[in-house]
Amino acid sequence: MHRRKHRIAQLTRPLDLVKHPLYREPADALRETLVELSRSSGFWKYAQAVGWIDAPVPADPSQINRCMFSFAYYYDVLKQCRDCQRDFIFYAKEQKYWFETLKLPLEADAVRCVGCRRRKRKQSQAHQRYSVLAGKASLGDQELEELAGLFLGLWNSGQRMSPQKLAAIYGRCRRQIPESDVAREAETLHREINCEKED
Ligand SMILES: [Zn+2]
Repeated sequence: MHRRKHRIAQLTRPLDLVKHPLYREPADALRETLVELSRSSGFWKYAQAVGWIDAPVPADPSQINRCMFSFAYYYDVLKQCRDCQRDFIFYAKEQKYWFETLKLPLEADAVRCVGCRRRKRKQSQAHQRYSVLAGKASLGDQELEELAGLFLGLWNSGQRMSPQKLAAIYGRCRRQIPESDVAREAETLHREINCEKED
């Protein structure tokens, strides 16, 4: 009990809520109106959670994958994004959609805000496409341009990419599409990295 009280007390800074394109935040989405959800619901997921109880969404446990217990409502839960550290709401309606429509297991949790989730999804799509192109023995001009663009995009977004691969891509661009923007960008990046090494 003490620990949960402490959890609310820790939330002293003002909320910096990420907007969700589909769901509206509670009318009084203030820190002062947060409650410990474990007091309002028997749902084990809410044991450590704080949120708002003004817009409960009825749960239908018969629609949930391998649900061994029953609970009556979903509530809007306050979370902090793992990536950008901003506050976001894991909306009651969103939870219902995840667990009852998408049939995600109840253990699934929203750890990133909607913006960071989208960014992460785009990055993993870019990675997949990059791997496909990188695995090809020969590439047309357009494909090579796409490969270099994907590499640079992933690099610039802070993904761990190998400088040796950059050197190889730069070499291919210089031979095959020397006039392209990506060739110039790859060259600049390649030089920057090699300067850093010499320093
Ligand atoms: Zn975020």
